[in-house]
Amino acid sequence: MKTVQAIRGMNDVLPERSPLWQYAEAQMRALYASYGYSEIRTPLVEDTALFRRSIGEVTDIVEKEMYTFNDRNDESITLRPEGTAGCVRAALQHGLLHNQIQKLWYTGPMFRYERPQKGRYRQFHQFGAEVFGLAGPDIDAEIIIMSARLWQRLGIAEHLTLQLNTLGTAESRANYKADLVAYLQQHVARLDEDSQRRLSTNPLRILDSKSADTQQVLDDAPEFFAYLDEESRTHFDQLCAFLDAAGVAYEINPRLVRGLDYYGKTVFEWVTSALGSQGTVMGGGRYDGLVEQLGGKSTPAIGFGMGVERLLLLLEALDVVPADVTQTVDACLLAMGDDAERVKLQLAERLRSAVPDLRLQTVLGDGSFKSKMKKADKSGARLGFIVGDDEVAKQVFTVKNLRKDAPQVHIAWSDTDALLAVMKEALQESI
Ligand code: ATP
Ligand code: MG
Repeated sequence: MKTVQAIRGMNDVLPERSPLWQYAEAQMRALYASYGYSEIRTPLVEDTALFRRSIGEVTDIVEKEMYTFNDRNDESITLRPEGTAGCVRAALQHGLLHNQIQKLWYTGPMFRYERPQKGRYRQFHQFGAEVFGLAGPDIDAEIIIMSARLWQRLGIAEHLTLQLNTLGTAESRANYKADLVAYLQQHVARLDEDSQRRLSTNPLRILDSKSADTQQVLDDAPEFFAYLDEESRTHFDQLCAFLDAAGVAYEINPRLVRGLDYYGKTVFEWVTSALGSQGTVMGGGRYDGLVEQLGGKSTPAIGFGMGVERLLLLLEALDVVPADVTQTVDACLLAMGDDAERVKLQLAERLRSAVPDLRLQTVLGDGSFKSKMKKADKSGARLGFIVGDDEVAKQVFTVKNLRKDAPQVHIAWSDTDALLAVMKEALQESI
């Protein structure tokens, strides 16, 4: 019989790789904590209308990437393709936005029906942050500086570049759109098929086209900066000044637009060349209009979403994962002989009580001493606590360093200080 397989584009994280996920998650939590963000957890499924209204009807996500179903009550529901809409929905529903500043973060799976390939999946994960109630460029800068700090912490800073742009106000975009469309219509035959279609639906996205011909046509197109309103220009200049002062380098990319309609003013992406064509690790921007669009009072807002899978691929490609991340066991306890077998679980509990945070694996099951030593070695443990019938008679452990040649020592079961000391020494070696 054929075994059941996972849904295409949806991945298992196997035990071998989960420490890497936990490492990245721990780094993110620490980062958010150090900037005063609080976690928000929202459902994976929302009313379809939420995404249609926020992301935009004529975006790739809403047009062709959403997992939308009717539930048993015939309501249209959608697996969330991104985190911002749900965050805004929850903040509105629970009155978090009224005269308040909120700095929120979230993590979890997102779902998009895309062609699966390296760095692009149908269930993928994001770390995201959203800030509500701050209109000035200082928060735009802080959020970018925070991400730059993350790259530093992870040891990948020199492999990511920051692309920055401003999309101005809705009014300036509308003026620009009209002139851009008028220009592109004169060259419609040279545009790729997608861009031809977007001419009438979502012309700004054409700026983002991967087609070399289209990009060539765009070389002589009107530039958005000329249409930028005074307020957005000042906001952008101030943002750049904050980044300059903080020493965060950026490239201004006037063709950077994002795939979601709710952005205005600041947009940014962190991009790497180390992952092939799926090189955008993080994307974000300001969305001052969205809260009102979803029925709330006008509220300034900014956020970002980072692809966790792409981040992890990058950490691995650059070989910057600290060695101790994948080490999940500190010590193994091995028992040999009937007397020792009888007390092994008890002794393991004693060790766990004596050494808080000790990651101890008891070698279970029958077998020769050699096969048990092999299991202990395979666990990655640094120390072996060996108990044979002799040790039971003397009430001691024989402690053996499994990673280097060092004399064995005997430590009494009750000598908590000596047990602590030997573990501390072994753990220091591993750092
Ligand atoms: P792309 O241009 O690569 O399709 P996007 O603009 O659609 O990205 P966003 O909606 O901004 O992506 O999502 C933020 C981040 O989530 C992306 O920068 C990327 O790292 C990650 N991401 C988006 N879609 C996927 C996917 N299908 N699989 C894995 N990661 C993804
Ligand atoms: Mg996409």
